[in-house]
Amino acid sequence: MKSDDKESAKRTITIAPPARHDATLHSQHAALLPRLAVGLGVPAAGLALCLALLRGWRSLCLFYELTGLYCPGCGSGRAALALLHGRVGKAFGYNPLFMLLAPFLAYVLGREYLRFVFPGLGLRETRLPAWAGPAALVLILAFWLLRNLPAFAFLAP
Ligand SMILES: [Zn+2]
Repeated sequence: MKSDDKESAKRTITIAPPARHDATLHSQHAALLPRLAVGLGVPAAGLALCLALLRGWRSLCLFYELTGLYCPGCGSGRAALALLHGRVGKAFGYNPLFMLLAPFLAYVLGREYLRFVFPGLGLRETRLPAWAGPAALVLILAFWLLRNLPAFAFLAP
């Protein structure tokens, strides 16, 4: 082997790309798995919940079982079932807070779901005003308190 050939072979080995391409593919596949799991798991869980409600499943409220008082979520399952049957007024009767917050939560969670599962859509992160968290907390606590007072029994499920 001539000196030029040795040099050429050395150069070829040095220039040949390492397994970087495979590593990139593996990382792309690894990033796809959580999106696939969430993309299929969330709709499947939602469908399972709807089917369970339609077949008569009722959730148990541990707070109500222990205290005899309603929590802010009491009646949400019945409200969701009423919604599945298209009875909006009845759903409000079971849990008006759920009915007020459900569209907002559905929008935010749905948007975040789409953002996570389909990053190619280019959806920006959902940003809420700074007062939204404290306002929601006050609303939930007030609803929790009021629905357990006899004067506001209409807020109970
Ligand atoms: Zn409850």
